[in-house]
Amino acid sequence: MRLRELWLYGFKSFGRKTGVRFAPGITAIVGPNGSGKSNLIDAVRFVLGEANARALRGSRLEDLVFSGSAARRGLGYAEVTLVLDNRDGFFSLPYEEISVTRRILRNGESAAWINGSPVRLKDLSTLFLDTGLGQGAFAIVGQGEVDALIAERPEARRTAFEELAGIRRFRERKREAEADLAEVEANLTRVRDLLTALE
Ligand code: ATP
Repeated sequence: MRLRELWLYGFKSFGRKTGVRFAPGITAIVGPNGSGKSNLIDAVRFVLGEANARALRGSRLEDLVFSGSAARRGLGYAEVTLVLDNRDGFFSLPYEEISVTRRILRNGESAAWINGSPVRLKDLSTLFLDTGLGQGAFAIVGQGEVDALIAERPEARRTAFEELAGIRRFRERKREAEADLAEVEANLTRVRDLLTALE
């Protein structure tokens, strides 16, 4: 899976339709302060289903809509599309390319599409759940998050690394399996006691 394209219209400082095509390898986005570099990352988080405006550096989701500049009037909605290469079947959808779009209107209403078909917002989050791209995953490391990680207690830091390495859910499953095993063992002990009583 690879991010191929990011398209923005009316999202934060992007009042004009803007597209970024990502070539294979590493992409660095450079520009003066306030030119919109972080807004691009906010746009990616937005499509991944982020529901908390503060995580997108706004106080309300409606603040994400382009509010105008000296040269352009504000717009009525913000829309972001991610185009993902799915030739490796990373997402369990029968498409080699997946385009995911999320739109938010100035009145707070929102809409979403996967490959052009309307879906619920929840379907976006579900698509990315357990892929390492979902909310709370570490595919995106924000400014200040590295410092925060270094300042964490060792146990919290370990949890973050486990999440990052994708082993946290296995630890969770192991804990559940151990609880089931303990219950089975308790049942077995009870059966053995009954058998002894019957003999
Ligand atoms: P730095 O290098 O300082 O971190 P940056 O390139 O990451 O800067 P961003 O934080 O992405 O810059 O962009 C900030 C700009 O986006 C500000 O000029 C701000 O006015 C503009 N902006 C944010 N939300 C909106 C909006 N809804 N409408 C218009 N402009 C917006």
